[in-house]
Amino acid sequence: MKSILVHIPHASVVIPPAERAAIRLSEPELQRELLRVTDWYTDELFRGGFEAEDVLEARVSRLIVDVERFPNDADEPCAALGMGAVYTTASTGQPLREIAECDRRRLMEAYYWPHHQALARAVQDRVDRYGVCTIIDAHSFSTNPLPTQAAMATLPEICLGDRNARALVDGGDRPGPVHERGHRGKAELVPHVMYSFGGFLDIYFESVKQLTFS
Ligand SMILES: [Zn+2]
Repeated sequence: MKSILVHIPHASVVIPPAERAAIRLSEPELQRELLRVTDWYTDELFRGGFEAEDVLEARVSRLIVDVERFPNDADEPCAALGMGAVYTTASTGQPLREIAECDRRRLMEAYYWPHHQALARAVQDRVDRYGVCTIIDAHSFSTNPLPTQAAMATLPEICLGDRNARALVDGGDRPGPVHERGHRGKAELVPHVMYSFGGFLDIYFESVKQLTFS
């Protein structure tokens, strides 16, 4: 076990058969939606350099539950677009599913909370052993911004951000969103902070602090 934990939230394309019926998309529409919202190959990319025990992946597609949303819609800005922890709207804007509160709760208990319990445990194990845990949150961008990324008119080729919502540039960090173009070898880097990371990681910062010190 290392102090680094790789978190891969959006690579899964698993739609459990029992949950498929509630999704109001035809099979071709569902496949197109998966193509658009999945962070393809982030599992292969990030698994490669790490032991299995240092990698935590969401087991189901974000179309079932999105583990990188706040659990309560009132706290989650993307819920206004129907893309909170349990999506009701597809990225095209068409209805994804109608869901009763009891069904939402069931999905959360089946897929969301077990994932977060495993994540909290993995973070705590590392803090216990090393005194620190660094979470690498592994995403990729679709070709065009999703509705939840409307603020990013130009998607970056590479995004490096930390929990303080700062982009990391040239080994240092600078406050606030950074849009810069530079060249390193043949790769063009456009560092750009992913502003929603701060809130997500803060959950673990706070919960681990409580677990550890209270
Ligand atoms: Zn993602």
